[in-house]
Amino acid sequence: MTGTPAAQDPGVFGDLPGQDAVVAQLRRAAAGAAALLAGRPPEPGAMTHAWLFTGPPGSGRSVAARAFAAALLCGDGGCGECNSCRQVLAGTHADLLLVRPEGLSYGVKQTRDLVLRAAGKPTGGRWHIVLFEDADRCTEQAANALLKAIEEPAPRTVWLLCAPSAEDLVPTIRSRCRVVTLVVPSSEAVARVLTDRDGIEPARALAAARAAQGHIGRARRLATDASAAKRRADVLRVPSAVTSLGPALSAAASLVRTAEEEAKAVTEELDEPEREALRRAFGEGSSGKGVAKAMRGMAGAMKDLEDRQKSRATRVKRDTLDQALLELALFYRDILMLQLGAGTELANPESDLRRLASSSTPEATLRRLQAIMHCRELLTLNVAPLLAVEEMALSLSEG
Ligand SMILES: [Zn+2]
Repeated sequence: MTGTPAAQDPGVFGDLPGQDAVVAQLRRAAAGAAALLAGRPPEPGAMTHAWLFTGPPGSGRSVAARAFAAALLCGDGGCGECNSCRQVLAGTHADLLLVRPEGLSYGVKQTRDLVLRAAGKPTGGRWHIVLFEDADRCTEQAANALLKAIEEPAPRTVWLLCAPSAEDLVPTIRSRCRVVTLVVPSSEAVARVLTDRDGIEPARALAAARAAQGHIGRARRLATDASAAKRRADVLRVPSAVTSLGPALSAAASLVRTAEEEAKAVTEELDEPEREALRRAFGEGSSGKGVAKAMRGMAGAMKDLEDRQKSRATRVKRDTLDQALLELALFYRDILMLQLGAGTELANPESDLRRLASSSTPEATLRRLQAIMHCRELLTLNVAPLLAVEEMALSLSEG
């Protein structure tokens, strides 16, 4: 330790590469909050009770919110070492309520329940924190219930909402929150984290960071998970495969199938442990008085759980296919950059792009990009995935 600010131990803020302004803002707020607890005057305006973390997917919205929660609950500004910090990072701290909507929307009943729980006194004597990921998934009624809680806050409750952008929340909520804006970190900053923290070899880390376009979690997966890297390679085979009608249709089918397989792998991993936990909670297998009644209760709870799992599976499937389409779009964007001779950093290795870039025109590439964006739009309108992707593949195959 040299004692200069640059050498400051990052503590709980260590996983936010390229977000220096955000980290400084949150540290200041945490210091203000600690002053309030100690009965000292805080730096004016540093701390407030409702925060909105915004930024593109993967920029670290929820990572930043989690680090801030840790800094508020730690006696040492978020040291990253103490019990409290560890519990927050593991998601087990008694004064931290983590909310992760798993379906496409978050309902009013759940929100009312959340507001009630949030109003309780913090057990650790500091703050009671609600970290609400994907707050943009609140239904309109749910947003109203949330608004009430934010308008009339309990004295020790802090709300941390996360959403892609401030516009994703209703203006009434937005206007009562301090907005924290994360930026897309540079590929170099992401690669440095992969190298320093995960021990990934620098060239490989940089390639993964470029491919992931600033999405740290995705970059880490691409660099460490062979099946994720293979799925990406499958997607990027599409542009050279769609030479005519037949190959275009089979490329479409395999694109949809790959996305479905990936989504299935993700949801299956989550589903069974949840069902198992529910069975245990209802004491399945035990006997005695009240068991029959408990079993009836379990059937209802199991049905609820399965409904939620089904809605999550739909969302994961949609997100996975969308991710594949974005990767494809990025590939054509790279081709366009080469065709235009723009000096932009490419997400894909230039050697993969060159042949396609020289065999088409910028106009054709733009048209293809539009076809991909149109396909994404159709999917949000619930058009059958295979139909939408086939239409896109046909457009891609046209000269
Ligand atoms: Zn700590």
